[in-house]
Amino acid sequence: MPNTAILWFRRDLRLDDNPALHGCLSDCDHLLPLYIHEPEEEAPWVPGAASRWWLHGSLAQLAHDLRSRGSQLLVTRGDSLDTLTRIASATGARTLHWNRLYDPATRERDTRVKQALRAAGIKVVSHPGSVLFEPWEIASGSGEPYRVFSAFWRRCGTRLGECTTLDAPVSLPPAPPLVSGLALDELMLRPRIPWDSGLQATWTPGEAAAHARARTFLHTHAADYRQQRDRPDRTGTSALSPALHFGELSPRRLLRMVTEIWEDPSAEPIEPFVRELGWREFAHHLLYHYPHTTDAPLDPRFAALPWRETDAERLLEAWQRGATGIPLVDAGMRELWELGWMHNRTRMVVASFLTKNLRLPWQLGARWFWDTLVDADLAANTLGWQWSAGCGADAAPYFRIFNPVLQGERFDPRGDYVRRWCPELGRLPVKFIHRPWMAPPAVLDHAGLRLGREYPAPIVDLQDSRAAALAAYETIKGRA
Ligand code: FAD
Repeated sequence: MPNTAILWFRRDLRLDDNPALHGCLSDCDHLLPLYIHEPEEEAPWVPGAASRWWLHGSLAQLAHDLRSRGSQLLVTRGDSLDTLTRIASATGARTLHWNRLYDPATRERDTRVKQALRAAGIKVVSHPGSVLFEPWEIASGSGEPYRVFSAFWRRCGTRLGECTTLDAPVSLPPAPPLVSGLALDELMLRPRIPWDSGLQATWTPGEAAAHARARTFLHTHAADYRQQRDRPDRTGTSALSPALHFGELSPRRLLRMVTEIWEDPSAEPIEPFVRELGWREFAHHLLYHYPHTTDAPLDPRFAALPWRETDAERLLEAWQRGATGIPLVDAGMRELWELGWMHNRTRMVVASFLTKNLRLPWQLGARWFWDTLVDADLAANTLGWQWSAGCGADAAPYFRIFNPVLQGERFDPRGDYVRRWCPELGRLPVKFIHRPWMAPPAVLDHAGLRLGREYPAPIVDLQDSRAAALAAYETIKGRA
């Protein structure tokens, strides 16, 4: 009887640097690579449409890569435990390997699966594969999880040299006979009404494209990352976030690629980029140790913050549609809708605008991002929203409210980003591109623009709404 091992793919859709794959190979004659689509309609954070779009492409590429090495991806749908039990019994598999994930629902599910299958006599092994360090490996001197990024990253920095990688195998053992699955299309991950032309024109999911993107970024843009990373009007960042989220590229491999070019990842010019991988790490660390923060503020005082009580629905919809009348905010929200991605600088600006100028709960913004981002990631999204709202670990202080006009003038100085996403503002002179409501009527006329017609007038006054946010904050400031 051949020894069959199941390799359970989840958000590690790659063959390179895949510890679970290597675990299987040391353990089997037959390898069964398996993806289980478990829509979990009841689960609190079911992936949104943009994320599912990416998943389809990534699985297609994985299936191709497995085939080219003599293997075959089995795609199924249903409850994970039931599916694994059924397939183990159909194939006689005695071993199951996966790479660990850290979001609360997956951890709970994985514990259940591990206990049940071990009780049934199956060897179950989980591996580290999604982060540089396991969340419990990095702790403060007193053994507590870190809540301040700089201290956390300093601690990680002393161990970066330990981050080894595993090469992709050249060939793979055959899959066991007698198991049939679904065609990828049967998972219905792609939209039925085709809204995805912007995604198709922008992204290529899959491991090969992730490696190519990483190489291009490291050789062309990375040296200028510090100068360019805050400019949404330029290509200054890696756009690797969806590839890292789906595990098409491991963070350890990315770090290795960095050190092959720059020996010391903690030195200029590459330090600022590697530090961002540190924020990704920190996000997973926080989610692991504070799982409630997907929905509740880490700083409990913020549970009592008086959010807006009137007109919330209309204002939220204007924000979602990129129709707030504040050009940088609208450009960001339209970029998100079109590409399933938004530049980090604009993410911070639109999040500040929602939670402070509009005084709407950060959870509403987190949900919208979750549904629309191709890189929607529970750890990074939770950290990003709590940071922006001022209630998370090491967050921006609540009273530091981004002024979207000044942000635009600083980080999109010619207005190219705004012009790209809000073409109706295209003929405004630079002086007014981030503040069209201040343009004299003759300038608006010349630009063919009527506020409230071609482009909205601002839905809130930036100064008044700032003052109202600060007043709301005063009500919770002194609380324990
Ligand atoms: P680069 O600048 O090239 O950085 C390299 C990698 O580092 C990124 O791909 C990402 O994996 C990681 N990274 C960079 N910045 C951060 C950060 N602040 N926090 C955690 N990891 C980071 N990122 C997501 O991956 N998924 C999300 O759902 C997400 N939601 C966010 C929500 C808000 C409100 C904010 C302010 C930020 C959010 N981020 C999220 C973080 C950040 O905006 C994106 O990771 C980044 O813009 C992705 O672009 P990039 O790949 O070009 O980044």
